[in-house]
Amino acid sequence: MENFQTHKMTVSVDKHSSHLEQFKDFYKELDDQGKTIENLPHEKIEEYQLKAINATLEHVWNENEYYRSRLEEAGFTEPKIDHLEQLATVPMLKKDAIRGDKEKILCVEPKEIGQVHLTSGTSGKPIYTSYTLADQYVYDLLPKYLELFKETEEDVAAIALPYEFALPGLGFQRLFQFAFGTAVLSLGKGGYMAPVDKSLELMKEYQATVLTTTPSYASLLAEESEKYGIEIGKDIKLKKIWLTGEGCSSTFRQRLEKWWGCEVSFFYGSTECGVIGVECSKHQGYHVMEGHIKLEIIDPDSGEVLPYGQTGEIVVTTLLREGMPMVRYRSGDLGKLQKSQCDCGIALDVLELRGRMEHMLRIGDEDYSPFMIEHFLMELPDVGLWYHLKLNKGELTIEAEKFRTDLSDKKLAKKIRKHMKDRIGIDCNVVIRDDIPRTFGKATRVFN
Ligand SMILES: [Zn+2]
Repeated sequence: MENFQTHKMTVSVDKHSSHLEQFKDFYKELDDQGKTIENLPHEKIEEYQLKAINATLEHVWNENEYYRSRLEEAGFTEPKIDHLEQLATVPMLKKDAIRGDKEKILCVEPKEIGQVHLTSGTSGKPIYTSYTLADQYVYDLLPKYLELFKETEEDVAAIALPYEFALPGLGFQRLFQFAFGTAVLSLGKGGYMAPVDKSLELMKEYQATVLTTTPSYASLLAEESEKYGIEIGKDIKLKKIWLTGEGCSSTFRQRLEKWWGCEVSFFYGSTECGVIGVECSKHQGYHVMEGHIKLEIIDPDSGEVLPYGQTGEIVVTTLLREGMPMVRYRSGDLGKLQKSQCDCGIALDVLELRGRMEHMLRIGDEDYSPFMIEHFLMELPDVGLWYHLKLNKGELTIEAEKFRTDLSDKKLAKKIRKHMKDRIGIDCNVVIRDDIPRTFGKATRVFN
């Protein structure tokens, strides 16, 4: 092949072929029929997933020593499963196995790498994820979800997510630009070029219609707008906010909907696996992006696959990756899967997300998801969107701020205590503060 120094995109993408070639035809056929994977019967989705998993298994078997030896140790003599349930016999991949190691599961020559993303490494060394250009600009964009994403070239999307290292900022940027033709305002989140006032000003000037950010930053932007005299709903009129990065409860989401005056939906993804789930307008959980990934729920202790309806650890297998496919990757997140009975008509399975395993709060004999506690806390309109949950020897202290209320600190604390007792039977201490720190990073709300 000619060796161009420039126009790498043309060389790598247009003349590119890989084990994923066959799926271009699959999606082209859907396109031609005016369909998307969202509205295929679920058996058809499963048929596609089996093919994609086998293509991935063959790819990692041929291109990666680690994956191959793990499969051989598990008794595989060829990289193939006959039905989806058999995926349970494929070894799982733990974060610790790839933490700090940039080549262990790399399945292409290093010169084929187009982009590297890193996890934040808050819990140890980072995880390096290498993507080829084709991964990001071709295969990642093959599955369309036109029912879930309504963005078009008429929209202007403000992306207030980190652009450094991790996937979210650049990932959304590619999605908006290359899938929807949407103009993008790359606000970033707290970078030194991106103070809040400038970000809000830019959204106003360019009439942003979509905002993609974290739950805490969406509240920070709303809060700060008042300080800078920018009126939300008038100066900035959004149609939609996508929340990602930190999970949050549905009541927190609804509080943001009220404040911003637009629909707010969740988007669940990770730097290693890309997109995992997206909420539809019914807000009954995340539709799993079954074109991109196969999702399983396992018992975190035994590793056994759990049936629909049971809560366990989320395990992800990427279906459209050549650079660094994730095969049965243990996410460390907890969730529950259901077959879709959603009124929206989308056939993709529905995931209820409970949060990071290490963030579960052990109160008495039970584990509580912080989203659940937040859910009830946010039911009280006099409680602000910044709070802490502190656990000390099984005892919960909620630190909360007041929000547009005349209640005294004492009365509000009493109200919260009673509400939490009545709604979920939790006895807790309450401290009202007016100085909970705002952050540009991930909001730390749980102190365990
Ligand atoms: Zn739905």
